[in-house]
Amino acid sequence: MMVKRYNDLNTYLRSLFGCRVQKITVDAGLSCPNRDGTIAIGGCIYCNVRGSGTGAHTRGLTITDQILQGKQALLRRYKAKKFLAYFQSFSNTYAPVDTLKKLYDEALAIKDVVGLSIGTRPDCVDQSVLELLQDYAEQHLVWIEYGLQSAKDKTLEVINRGHDVQCFEDAVRATVNRGIKICAHVILGLPGEARSDMLHTAETISDLGIDGLKLHLLYVISGTPMEALYRQGKYRCLEQQEYVDLVCDFLERIPPGMVIQRLTGDPHPEELVAPDWSRRKTETLQKINETLEKRDSWQGKFG
Ligand code: SF4
Repeated sequence: MMVKRYNDLNTYLRSLFGCRVQKITVDAGLSCPNRDGTIAIGGCIYCNVRGSGTGAHTRGLTITDQILQGKQALLRRYKAKKFLAYFQSFSNTYAPVDTLKKLYDEALAIKDVVGLSIGTRPDCVDQSVLELLQDYAEQHLVWIEYGLQSAKDKTLEVINRGHDVQCFEDAVRATVNRGIKICAHVILGLPGEARSDMLHTAETISDLGIDGLKLHLLYVISGTPMEALYRQGKYRCLEQQEYVDLVCDFLERIPPGMVIQRLTGDPHPEELVAPDWSRRKTETLQKINETLEKRDSWQGKFG
């Protein structure tokens, strides 16, 4: 049996709760300042109008509906006993704090929901939001997931991210020591980035007291500015082994205790333009494990 060479989310959650815990993705119908015109209209160049979401809110499903449906499916599939409500679509702290409280309260009122995971931008938090999350964190597991994507300002400009690295660092500093767990999102394969840029991102997040990481492959989805770049031959997607090697390099350079929440993205099959191999998630994860094994390496080896 292959030994896990990184600190994966399932093992971490099992160690906290003593059972299988699964995240249920929730679409709360919020927006994003990088799409609604506050910062920009087009959004990040790889993002489409769904903002990485499920579209469940547009289909009229409440948070309760979504969580109850998710519970049933995850109970069947994984025999999960406890759940985290994962507010994923768009920016989930981008609303007045009273509105946010109602949304989070609704999720936490459901039986066996033991915590929250809130995906957002680092420019969408302030003291009042952090105080609200700090209150929840006294009784629940609370993760905030900040999109960084790259620790290189030039790249953030190219992808039209609408904030810089300093903004991310400020948000992290404002969040630490509140009992809130912090997860950083990073994308490998962004336009113009060399391996050294991606490893610089690994070093940057390692020094900030971040608790978790989601690594994503940059894949091209339809209807985005990335699709135009790709079709004009101005962007080359990473090959599968290239990505696998970068993930291993990245893992080697971050602290061993950082919780790895994701090691590759999950494209919607009908929206994916390229690369085709990104549909084969299990195979990619297997190759990451095999490559770490071959290198006799592990998360934090050089961290
Ligand atoms: S911050 Fe997120 S939702 Fe907003 S444009 Fe970028 S990827 Fe899309």
